[in-house]
Amino acid sequence: MNLNTPVNKLKGIGDKTTALFNKLHIYTYEDLINYFPREYMNYEAPVGVSDIKIGNIQTVTGHLSAVNGPITAGRYKIITAVLKDGLNTLEIMFFNQPYIKKMLKVGGVYLFRGKVIQKGTRLIMQSPRIFSRNDYDELMGHPVPVYSLTSGLSGKTVTKAVNSALQDIQWDDEIFPASALKELDIVSHSKAISLIHNPLNEDSIQIARRRLAFEDFFYFIMLLRKNRELAVTLKNSYPMIETADTKRFIEKLPFKLTSGQKKTWNQICEDMSGDGCMNRLVQGDVGSGKTIVAILALLMTACNGYQGALMAPTEVLATQHMETVTDLVKKYDLPLKPVLLVGSMKASEKKAVYESIKTGECNLIIGTHALIQEKVEYSKLALVVTDEQHRFGVRQREALADKGNQPHILVMSATPIPRTLAIILYGDLHLSAIHELPADRLPIKNCVVKTDYRPSAYKFISDQVAMGRQAYVICSQVEAGENDDLENVIDYCEKLKDVLPKLNISYLHGKMKPAEKNTIMQNFADGNIDVLVSTTVIEVGINVPNSTVMMVENAERFGLAQLHQLRGRVGRGKHQSYCIFISSNEDKKTMERLNILAGTNDGFKIASEDLRLRGPGEFFGVRQSGEFAFKVGDIYADSALLEETNNFVDKLLADDPKLNKVENANLKASVIRYYEKSEMLQSI
Ligand code: ADP
Ligand code: MG
Repeated sequence: MNLNTPVNKLKGIGDKTTALFNKLHIYTYEDLINYFPREYMNYEAPVGVSDIKIGNIQTVTGHLSAVNGPITAGRYKIITAVLKDGLNTLEIMFFNQPYIKKMLKVGGVYLFRGKVIQKGTRLIMQSPRIFSRNDYDELMGHPVPVYSLTSGLSGKTVTKAVNSALQDIQWDDEIFPASALKELDIVSHSKAISLIHNPLNEDSIQIARRRLAFEDFFYFIMLLRKNRELAVTLKNSYPMIETADTKRFIEKLPFKLTSGQKKTWNQICEDMSGDGCMNRLVQGDVGSGKTIVAILALLMTACNGYQGALMAPTEVLATQHMETVTDLVKKYDLPLKPVLLVGSMKASEKKAVYESIKTGECNLIIGTHALIQEKVEYSKLALVVTDEQHRFGVRQREALADKGNQPHILVMSATPIPRTLAIILYGDLHLSAIHELPADRLPIKNCVVKTDYRPSAYKFISDQVAMGRQAYVICSQVEAGENDDLENVIDYCEKLKDVLPKLNISYLHGKMKPAEKNTIMQNFADGNIDVLVSTTVIEVGINVPNSTVMMVENAERFGLAQLHQLRGRVGRGKHQSYCIFISSNEDKKTMERLNILAGTNDGFKIASEDLRLRGPGEFFGVRQSGEFAFKVGDIYADSALLEETNNFVDKLLADDPKLNKVENANLKASVIRYYEKSEMLQSI
């Protein structure tokens, strides 16, 4: 069997299961073995009733002393069973699972796995999984893969299918030279794949991860090298000169540009007036003032008679950029004619905008990914700016570039990465960095507190509002009913109105209609709303310098990198700003994790520490960075490996620049396969 064999050739996989696999985009043996576990479960030795720890997921064993039911309670038919161990008893409850009754015999020995809760003096386990001793023994003693499933497909089926595929497969030869693998301490591809599905222990997960992350990085770096080769040869199709308009604008601004902003702006001017096409990334932490630099570049473009486009990841942010630019145009009499293009606009409005873009009537187009839709035809697009690059993939950026005839590219990112890694990860871009925040900023004051701090927090917010400031409160849920242990925007807003009746309080969340969202955001920006209760929709880019308080409920539910981005919504003006992280989980580890935020403002350090505090099995499924969402590799956790891989590519290409040596033939073939796949994705 080879990798392209369809999954229905596997023994025991019929049409029905095949259809379910297809739903998960698994069509071939290759797809199946590349379907990695979401996480791993450890099955520890079963305990007796007297050794139960309340609140933990545990496997409990004992003799059944009674089986009762079903009794009807509301919508439920409940079966209860009792496990007895001396004087201690555990009640087991099953809901609407009538067939369970036949499986349980009084006097028999069983293993139940589930969470044990306490109600008064009763110990209860609800809807546990039931195991036979033999089945359980097989699971014990090594990490057991847990796969993401779809309704109708069980973990058992996936595990069985994966393992029979692994047995049947005829592996291709290893593509990397054995000596290189030895030096890098990396196992073969086939070994990594079999370990990731069948780890003997925690170490084997790490061994497998290392190889798979290496592959992720290797192909990505090879693609960047290719793009870089193409980029250097690109001529400047839109040579520009710096006109008096930008100089005058800078002079009239109410603030002085920081030295990072100045340096970046000079580099952009040189790029756009030089021989080659600009391909530049501006990296700067939240609040460092990237927008004004982008606007300067767009202004220079317009003054040279061309069009520029500014693409933002959300409508809220695109709309805000439009407002900012419109205000500046009025205030400073800039020769910019901006239009907004976002998905929620009416078809007739869009048509008019398309027309003005096509005729060249407008010279600045601001929008979301609507900008890259096929209907948009530009007249003379010379500059494409992507804001908050970390929210887009590399591919969307390229798609917009494809719209014009090799326009200049300027990318803005707040993804915190040290320079050594940025050079690798943005290998096809030139780098500018804005290291400092504007001089008038005061460092944000942080606190990590428990829920009993709320009354003080509300008092604090109301004092800030009395001083003319505004506040954000972030909840992780939109409305009740999703996860009732967590605060939700709608109920919280009502509660807060009761506590602070004099304040103007509103809410914002992603399920609202775009137009509604824009209105609320505008009202907040205009100062008509004192407190905005919101989900993380405000996380990216939003700039309301007058807001000075960021309060986050259930802070323990967020990744630290995300909390850092949220924190970036305050401290954007000259007023002292404050961040209040409320944790409803008081355990030591959680508080320690959140306190990292209070200790540093360095985004990279925050993201790395966050991962260090997680267990090794928790690496999967954690998406730290939207921009570099690799299958296994993580730029923070695997930063050392990323550098090693880059060095490996350097050496490889120094020795064999076109990979034409016989020993590299297989490697070359798989690199070409990767290029083709990524081009295919790009054209979707
Ligand atoms: P980000 O880098 O996060 O995109 P913005 O460009 O939105 O940050 O800038 C944040 C705020 O700082 C804006 O209100 C902007 O007008 C202001 N700002 C930008 N540059 C300076 C500066 N050199 N001095 C003072 N304020 C500045
Ligand atoms: Mg920004």
